Amino acid sequence: MTTAQQAQQQVSEDVHSYAEPTKAVARHLDLDIAVNFDSKTISGTASYNIDNLAKGNEIIFDTRGLQIEKVYLGDNREETTFRLGETDKVLGQPLYVTIKPDTKRVTIQYKTSPDAAALQWLNPQQTAGKKYPFLFTQSQAILARTWIPIQDSPGIRITYNAKVQVPKELMAVMSAENPMQKNATGVYNFEMKQQIPSYLMALSVGDMVFREVGPQTGIYAEPATIEAAAYEFAEMDKMLVAAEKIYGKYRWDRYDLLVLPPSFPFGGMENPRLTFVTPTVLAKDRSLTSLIAHELAHSWSGNLVTNATWNDFWLNEGFTVYFERRIMEELYGKPYADMLAVLGYQDLTNTIEELGADSEDTRLKLDLEGRDPDEGLTDIAYEKGNLFLRHIEMAVGRERFDEFVNKYFNTFAFQSTDTDKFLDFLRKELIKGDEELAEKINIEGWVFSPGLPENHVKPTSERFAQVEETYKAWKNGKPAAQLNTKDWSSHEWLHFIRMLPEQMSQQQMQDLDKAFNFTNSGNSEVLAAWFIHAINNNYRTADKALETFLTNVGRRKFLVPIYKALAATPEGKKKALAIYAKARPNYHAVSTVTLDEMLK
Ligand SMILES: [Zn+2]
Repeated sequence: MTTAQQAQQQVSEDVHSYAEPTKAVARHLDLDIAVNFDSKTISGTASYNIDNLAKGNEIIFDTRGLQIEKVYLGDNREETTFRLGETDKVLGQPLYVTIKPDTKRVTIQYKTSPDAAALQWLNPQQTAGKKYPFLFTQSQAILARTWIPIQDSPGIRITYNAKVQVPKELMAVMSAENPMQKNATGVYNFEMKQQIPSYLMALSVGDMVFREVGPQTGIYAEPATIEAAAYEFAEMDKMLVAAEKIYGKYRWDRYDLLVLPPSFPFGGMENPRLTFVTPTVLAKDRSLTSLIAHELAHSWSGNLVTNATWNDFWLNEGFTVYFERRIMEELYGKPYADMLAVLGYQDLTNTIEELGADSEDTRLKLDLEGRDPDEGLTDIAYEKGNLFLRHIEMAVGRERFDEFVNKYFNTFAFQSTDTDKFLDFLRKELIKGDEELAEKINIEGWVFSPGLPENHVKPTSERFAQVEETYKAWKNGKPAAQLNTKDWSSHEWLHFIRMLPEQMSQQQMQDLDKAFNFTNSGNSEVLAAWFIHAINNNYRTADKALETFLTNVGRRKFLVPIYKALAATPEGKKKALAIYAKARPNYHAVSTVTLDEMLK
């Protein structure tokens, strides 16, 4: 076989990228860019070391909304020709660059558009400090191409160096080795030595400071947020130790967090070496830190062993949820992790109900051709994926399962893998021809069939059993103030609120709110769950808090169910549209794409 044929065999076809990596593929990126807050643009050059495997005369990159100014070949930068293909709303445009059989280096001079979907430009009012503007990127799933011309497929890995020029009063950080300190020049240099897929390219610029947590861990945040963040995430070093104990050495040197302003659309984004995290987990009691365990777990599942296409997303997220709960169990014990498992199972059954038990989108292996991958990525990948792995663990025992997972991470380290490759590995390394075991594991039922296999084991929680007792007492008429809720964590509260009946009287709502002050909860999970009841029961006392929440927080997981509940009645929809008009500038494109569609 030629090298090209070998490469062809290894690469899974990605319907969300125009790149043809079996012909010509990028291996390393040197990014040299300037960040301009006035024009809301990034401009500069992306220089790639490439392998022209097929020795042809073309290499293809993904772009979306980029202005491509010039393209050069070689170290001496000889100008070459290029053309942009037709625009697809989701995929953008392929950039065809003319190369020679022996071309090793391609340099693209470009500029982003002010509405680049990956970039959110915040004005000072939208930050915690209110003094300086802020920028952050969100590249997953296929938005890296809106700020860098890149072969934007999770099946392709590159190393990178970057030189980033920012306003002198601000600091830049990336998914790379980071500066830890502001410097007077506004020029920051980065190096990412490990190969990563494009969706892990990340940049943030703002007024931020660094605080060390442990020898290998630390936090970047705005000065106004750093104290709260340092308290909340004080245990991140312990998490890293716990994770290494389960699945082996952390391979990315440092593990730091960047706490973003509240418009960040996700809970966290596992950008390597520097997880981006929402400030909505700053609950002041460390009760929502499983999110950090989740992002940390991605350092193995996702960042180290990566889904080759977005149809295999469950390999990233299912493993990560499984690993996240193992870390939480290691740190806080099984009863604690069991609560997380039950809440996750509730999310899963809700998602299946919403999508329909026969929906193709409830299979682990997805088919997202022709769609925005972001739309197809639901709780199925996370929670059904996790449940499948728990199911295998129960079938073979934890010790054997851990040995298998360790071997999986080591075998595919710094590579991309797809569902078929994983299943081959599972058959070869764990099932090993044992037909009884194969039947028990039921790959077909879990991976390729919709819904959940009938004999799946539902997670249970002792601590929630007590919550259920308490709930029953309330339902039978005991006043809320007299309920036994001593030492409840936010997970118990969340379970309690989720159990509340859809229809409640004003008196019941007031009784609960007076006793537990849900409307003014500092816990975003509790608050978001309570707002759903407030909306369904027209509980006006929560109106102001609801509006404040929606105009401040941009986390899609909270926004979607709340707006949906509002939009269920004509009056509520009016309210939703009025709030949305005001709040929309505070949301990232990842959230507005979903909400525009829902509220149109
Ligand atoms: Zn994740």
